[in-house]
Amino acid sequence: MTATWSLPGQLAAPAATWERDVDVVVLGSGAGGLSAALAMRPARSVLVITKDVLAAGSTAWAQGGLAAVLDPNDSADEHVADTLAAGAGLCDEDAVRELVADAPGAIRTLIDLGAMFDPDESGEMALTMEGGHSHRRIVHAGGDQSGAEVQRTLDRAAIDAGVELLEHCFALDLLVATNGRGERQSAGVRVAQLDPSGAVVSIGIVTSRAVVLATGGYGQVFASTSNPPAVTGDGLALALRAGLAGRDLEFVQFHPSVLWIGPGATGQQTLVSEAVRGEGAILYDGLGRRVMEGVHPLEDLAPRDVVAAAISRRMAEAPGGIGDHVLLDATHLGERFYERFPTITEACRTIGIDPATERIPVAPAAHYACGGVIADLDGTTAMPGLLAVGEVACTGVHGANRLASNSVTESVVAGLRVGERLARALPDRVGLDHAAGEAHDAPLRNPAQRVELRSVMSSQVGVLRTPDGLDAAVHQLELLAATASVGVTGSRPAWEATNMLTVALAIATAAMTRMESRGCHRRTDVPEPQADWLRHLDVSLRDGAIVVS
Ligand SMILES: Cc1cc2nc3c(=O)[nH]c(=O)nc-3n(C[C@H](O)[C@H](O)[C@H](O)COP(=O)(O)OP(=O)(O)OC[C@H]3O[C@@H](n4cnc5c(N)ncnc54)[C@H](O)[C@@H]3O)c2cc1C
Repeated sequence: MTATWSLPGQLAAPAATWERDVDVVVLGSGAGGLSAALAMRPARSVLVITKDVLAAGSTAWAQGGLAAVLDPNDSADEHVADTLAAGAGLCDEDAVRELVADAPGAIRTLIDLGAMFDPDESGEMALTMEGGHSHRRIVHAGGDQSGAEVQRTLDRAAIDAGVELLEHCFALDLLVATNGRGERQSAGVRVAQLDPSGAVVSIGIVTSRAVVLATGGYGQVFASTSNPPAVTGDGLALALRAGLAGRDLEFVQFHPSVLWIGPGATGQQTLVSEAVRGEGAILYDGLGRRVMEGVHPLEDLAPRDVVAAAISRRMAEAPGGIGDHVLLDATHLGERFYERFPTITEACRTIGIDPATERIPVAPAAHYACGGVIADLDGTTAMPGLLAVGEVACTGVHGANRLASNSVTESVVAGLRVGERLARALPDRVGLDHAAGEAHDAPLRNPAQRVELRSVMSSQVGVLRTPDGLDAAVHQLELLAATASVGVTGSRPAWEATNMLTVALAIATAAMTRMESRGCHRRTDVPEPQADWLRHLDVSLRDGAIVVS
C-alpha cells in the first residue's frame, strides 16, 4: 500500500524569539515531574515547564491512593507477586522489585514534605485494600482526594525549594544534536509560551544538559475518559517524533465505571470509585438483570478489567435499549452515601440523580496508559540526555495491566530516583547548531478532527476489540491523517490534535498487531493469552508512518 499520509517530524510553529539555558528542564508538573525537580535541588538549576496550571495533570485526580508495604504483616514479596499477577506475564520483575523496595521511602518523603495521609482509629496511617492487592497497603488522603494532597504537597515544596515553574508553557519538540560519540542526544526543548486562555504568546528554546519527560498518559485520545483535558499524549508523540520507541501501547486500562452523563458525552467524566462496589453496590443492565452474576466468583468486586469487559459485553447486547451505559445500585446505603462519597454525590446531583434513592448510570472509560516511552526506573531512555518518568514512561512495572494504586507511587519513586541521579551527575553538554530555533511548517491537524478521532478510539479500540473494528479504526485514523488541514496554525488545540492522532495511530496499530487477549487488551476473536505472544510490542515512527516491531 502506498502511504498517502505522513505524520509530522516536528510540530509546526514560528521561529523562536527567545532562549533560556538551565541544567535540567522538566516537562510536566505532576507527581513524576515535581518529584524529579525537587530531588535535584539545590544541586541543579531546574526549570519545570507545564502546559497549563501546575495541577492540570492526572495526579491531582487520583482517588484511591498510593500502594506501599507499610504493615509489618505485609511483605515486599507479596506486593511484587500481586503486581506481577496483574501484569499478566509482561512485567519486568527487577523493575517491580525496585518499585516495591522504594515505595515506603517515597511515602515517607511525601510525609516529610508535609503530606497528610488519613489516620486510622489508633492514629497510625490508615491502609486500605483495592482490587488485586492481597493486603491492606494503600495510603490515602481526604477520603478520595489522595492525588490532590500529593499535588498540593509537591507544588508547595517545589515553590519553597526555589524550583522555577513556568505555567502555560507547551513543550513542542525535543532539540536533538549529535554528541562526541556520534549519538543523537537531547539538548533541550522547543516550547510555546501561552497566555492563560491558551493563545500563543511566543516561541522559545530552552537548552539544557538533560530533559525529563513527565507529561503523563493519553486518556484524552478516547471519547470517554477519567483523565483531565491536559492528558493528550504530547510527551509520547514528542518522543516518537524524536526517534524513540513506545512499548506496551495497546495496554490501555479502562475503568469500569465513570458517571455516564448522557448520549455522546465526551471528555473527562467523574470516576465512580470501586469503593462504591466495595460498599455493596450492584451493577444492573437496562432489563434489571445483574451484570456480574455468574461472570466471576467475586461478582461485582471482580478485577477491573473483568468488570469493564462484562459491562461492555452487556452494553453491546443493548438490553432494554441502553447500549451505552449500565446502572449501579447503591441505594442500600441510603443517605450514608452522601457522607461516604461526597464527590460522587455532587456529580450525580448535577445530572439530577440522587444516589441514595436512584441507580447511578455508569460506563467504562479510558483510565491509565500501562505503556509509554521505553525507560527504566532511573529514567534512562534510548537517547542520552532524555529521561522519562511517571505515566509517560514504560518501565516494565505494569506489564499488560496496572495493579491499582501502583502508578502515583511509581511517579514519585521514579521522579525521586531521576532527580537524585541528575543531582549526582549531568550528561555532557552537547552543542546545538544555529538552526535549533527555526520555524517549522509541517501541516498540523485541525482541532475539529478530535471528535472523530476520539469516537473511533472509544468505539473500535475500547474495552472489547474485534479484528474488523481495529482494522476500521486504523483505516479511519489514516484517512484523518491524509485529510488536508488547510490554514491550521500553531495553537494548543492544533498541537494537541496532531499529537493525539500520532498516539491514536500508535495504539490502534499495536492493538491490531497483538493477536491475543492479555491484561487489559481484549480481542473477541482470540479471547485467551497465547504463549507465543508473551512479548512486548515496540512502536516507532519512521518516515512519518507508524511501525510496530
Ligand atoms: C480520576 C483518576 C483517578 C486515579 N486514581 C489513582 C489512584 O488512586 N492511585 C494511583 O496510583 N493512580 C491513580 N490514577 C493514575 C495517576 O493519577 C497517574 O498515573 C499519575 O498521577 C501520573 O503522574 P505523572 O506525573 O506521570 O503525570 P500527570 O500527573 O498526568 O502530569 C503530567 C503533566 O504534564 C503536563 N503536560 C502534558 N503535556 C505537556 C506539554 N506538551 N507541555 C508541557 N506540559 C505538559 C501536564 O499539564 C501535567 O502537568 C488516577 C488517574 C485519574 C485520572
